[in-house]
Amino acid sequence: MKERIYTIPITEAFEQDSECPLCICEKKLENDALEYTLGPSMMEPDSRIETNKKGFCVHHFTKLYNMQQSRLGLGLIIETHLAEQEAIIEKIYRKHSDLIERESEKGMLETAVGRLSGKVSGTARFSEEMISQLDALEKSCAICSRIGNNMDRFVGTILYLFFKERDFRRKFESSKGFCLKHMKALIQGSKKELGQGKQAEFLKTLLPLQIQHLKRVQEEVNHFTEMFDYRKQSGDWKNSRDAVPRSIEKICGPCDLQR
Ligand SMILES: [Zn+2]
Ligand SMILES: [Zn+2]
Repeated sequence: MKERIYTIPITEAFEQDSECPLCICEKKLENDALEYTLGPSMMEPDSRIETNKKGFCVHHFTKLYNMQQSRLGLGLIIETHLAEQEAIIEKIYRKHSDLIERESEKGMLETAVGRLSGKVSGTARFSEEMISQLDALEKSCAICSRIGNNMDRFVGTILYLFFKERDFRRKFESSKGFCLKHMKALIQGSKKELGQGKQAEFLKTLLPLQIQHLKRVQEEVNHFTEMFDYRKQSGDWKNSRDAVPRSIEKICGPCDLQR
């Protein structure tokens, strides 16, 4: 069964006491992807083609660098990525450079006439093409894609187990729900993979669970803030001491908060 390799990490994550089992899975996937990028991936032509094309988001570039591991490897990956991006930028510029040159010599009046005639200038076309190229690069990340593909499978496995295994459904129902990022992933996944009736059945469990635990976390943050009231100084913090970082993770999903 294809789902098997995803079942074990999912059930293990549900066995831990956490604010979101999918955050546990995602953190593990991220660590694996970072290690892989600085390790075996460098020797694999397919991976190099991907990192040359996609590069990394600012979050993952920062992590790769801060790992201070295989600095030569990271240097090699960056060097070929940069070479590919520089070539693309140069190609786009060359395509429009004659018009840019000509338009740079036009007077203000000529430019205004051109604009009135509704003709799109070469400079404007270049800007548009370059911005959309840079936008695409900014949004692409070899590590984010790797994590995303696997997270989709984890979500699929949760939905599969929810309907197939009673034990798992009980664990799901007694969990503390999910962060908002992964709540969205579950709703998207259920919309994509389940028929309307089944999706409704799933949401009927997910949403009350989410609402209950978002309220709980909010009350814990509230308790935390109240403990700063001098009249409560001898009061009990209960489990509110880490309520702020926990609430941030409940809202955003995995983050690197210093605890
Ligand atoms: Zn999460
Ligand atoms: Zn990324």
